[in-house]
Amino acid sequence: GGSNVTPAIKQVKLEKECELRIEVGNDAPLRLRLLSGTAEIFGTELPPEIWLNFPPKLKFAVFTWFGATIEMDGATETDYTADETPMVSYVNVHAILDGRRDRAKKSPSDDPVLSQGPRVIVVGPTDSGKSTLSRMLLSWAAKQGWKPTFVDLDIGQGSITVPGSIAATPIEMPIDPVEGIPLEMPLVYFYGHTSPSNNVELYKVLVKELAAILERQFTGNTESRAAGMVINTMGWIEGVGYDLLLHAIRTFQANVVLVLGQEKLCSMLRDVLKGEPKVDVVKLQRSGGVVSRNAKFRQKTRSSRTREYFYGLANDLSPHSNISNFSDLFVYRVGGGPQAPRSALPIGAEPAADPTRVVAVNINRDLLHTVLAVSFAKEPDEIISSNVAGFIYVTDIDIQRKKITYLAPSAGELPSKYLIMGSLTWLET
Ligand code: ADP
Repeated sequence: GGSNVTPAIKQVKLEKECELRIEVGNDAPLRLRLLSGTAEIFGTELPPEIWLNFPPKLKFAVFTWFGATIEMDGATETDYTADETPMVSYVNVHAILDGRRDRAKKSPSDDPVLSQGPRVIVVGPTDSGKSTLSRMLLSWAAKQGWKPTFVDLDIGQGSITVPGSIAATPIEMPIDPVEGIPLEMPLVYFYGHTSPSNNVELYKVLVKELAAILERQFTGNTESRAAGMVINTMGWIEGVGYDLLLHAIRTFQANVVLVLGQEKLCSMLRDVLKGEPKVDVVKLQRSGGVVSRNAKFRQKTRSSRTREYFYGLANDLSPHSNISNFSDLFVYRVGGGPQAPRSALPIGAEPAADPTRVVAVNINRDLLHTVLAVSFAKEPDEIISSNVAGFIYVTDIDIQRKKITYLAPSAGELPSKYLIMGSLTWLET
């Protein structure tokens, strides 16, 4: 009997250029291994025969160029095989980028134009597969020995550090399909909100700062210069979102714009960038495997990214709880508040809020459950132009004793007493 008893282990045979699309179940992880042939997950090859553990809810695809047999152990929300994918067009883009990297490497290193490898920016609406395509291009490049720089401008669903940040990091190895991008020493700027509309001007300023630092690093490093960048963007492509895309393209001097599944955006960008020094705007098909995530799911993802920062993906990190006096920490927020007192303005003029004004924040109960960035700034007026060392999470505010309790990734003193507050909060669960 037991007709509805499913065998624990399921085998799937994949023909060439097909992929197995999986959504891991909600409650339990999934074990998966490559039994024979070759296959990759978003550009990273699977090791033969070794069982890999995928956490609940993860959505991914195992793709094979030449055919493979996969074994799965555990329940999935969905799993199905697709024989229509845009992978050939994606790998063709990779081949062109690789050619450009080779040319850059062979050029005289004192020629700033010729020695610059491709600067690729991936744009498109939310859930078009931008992060996934970025990841594949980076992993394929790393597999060939390049160390391209990954820039993530997505403050909502970024994959380098906690939400509310923009960040960059060199990718030295194909990205681990489970662990994602190693949280080593990324270059991070804290914006503090998960939507750019909170402070558009500040977002632009931080994008400029990040681009300027990378530009300086590239000057001294011909290897990373030749490898170039892959820049992931937000899914906001209308109105101000469109302006921010153009701003990012120009600020990073991107020379390849990959547009995922959006005819209109593609032709708009082609038109507007026509006059500019050689920028290729390339339209690519969106993969049918990309899963749409609703607002609630996105919120959950943000929350688990924050959790991962402090506790690690597999709860393998132990953050430290520290207590400081109010007087030992200086909390700032950026923007808001009138720029000048009314008395200093011409008669009739209204004081305007300065979006990049740094304002001191009194420590009170409002800070409870906020995620604060620890700035590298040495003075408050350096806060906007400074990247951040990391983050703390406020777990208690004791008004009477003037003590603040917070979680930090490691023990010991914070690298700086200047903290940046935005609207980012987290409820530890
Ligand atoms: P975007 O960056 O445009 O918002 P993502 O690249 O993050 O979109 O993709 C959305 C979700 O779809 C992610 O969870 C990703 O892992 C999943 N996904 C992307 N491509 C595939 C695919 N071919 N098969 C299964 N899941 C996929």
